[in-house]
Amino acid sequence: KSFKDLGIIESLCEACEKLGYKTPTPIQRESIPPALEGRDLIGLAETGSGKTAAFALPILHALLQNPQPLFGLVLAPTRELAYQISQAFEALGSLINVRCAVIVGGMDMVPQAIALGKKPHIVVATPGRLLDHLENTKGFHLRNLKYLVMDEADRLIDFDFGPIIDKILKVLPRERGTFLFSATMSSQVENLQRASLKNPLRVSI
Ligand code: AMP
Repeated sequence: KSFKDLGIIESLCEACEKLGYKTPTPIQRESIPPALEGRDLIGLAETGSGKTAAFALPILHALLQNPQPLFGLVLAPTRELAYQISQAFEALGSLINVRCAVIVGGMDMVPQAIALGKKPHIVVATPGRLLDHLENTKGFHLRNLKYLVMDEADRLIDFDFGPIIDKILKVLPRERGTFLFSATMSSQVENLQRASLKNPLRVSI
C-alpha cells in the first residue's frame, strides 16, 4: 500500500516521496486511515517506527481541507523532541507552506510570544512553557484548535507534566481530534487517555 492508498492527498504524498518515504511504515498503515476518518487514536509505538508522520500526515491532510491558524498542538516531553517534530511537520508540509512554532522552556518568552502572534498552523511545545503562554501571553489562545497530539506520553508522565496537561486540556475545545502516542502503557498514561480521548482506537505495532 502507498500513502495515496491510505487516503493522503496528492501534495502530501509528493512530500513523502521527496523525503524518500516509499511505503508507509506499519504504524502509519494502522493509524492514518482511522485518523482521516476522524477517530481518536492511542498509538503504541517507539521512536524509529515512523510515528511522527503517522500523526503529522493526517493533521496536515485536514489542515489542507480547512486551512486555519493554530490548527494543531503537539505536546512533547523534551525540547529536542519538540524541534524534531516541528522539523517533520515542516518537511512534510514543505509543498503547502505550513507554518510551525516551537514553544519550549529555557528560552526567552518574548520571541515565542511574537511567533505565536504570527498565527502558526502548528504549535509544538513542552507543556510547562505552553501553559505559561496560555496564562500570560496576551491574545494567545487555542479555542479553535482542531487536533491535539500527546507524543511520548509515558515520558510526559515521567517528567510530571500530568497536572500541567490537565490545565491545558481545560482551555482546549472539546470538539477536536486527539492522538496519544506512547512506547508503553501505564495506569497514569491510561488516566491521561481517559481525560483527553473520545472512544479511541488502539493501534500498535
Ligand atoms: P519517528 O519514529 O517518527 O521518529 O521516525 C523515524 C525515522 O523514520 C525518521 O527519520 C523519519 O524521517 C523516517 N520515516 C518516517 N516514515 C517513513 C517511511 N514511511 N519510510 C521511510 N522512512 C520513514
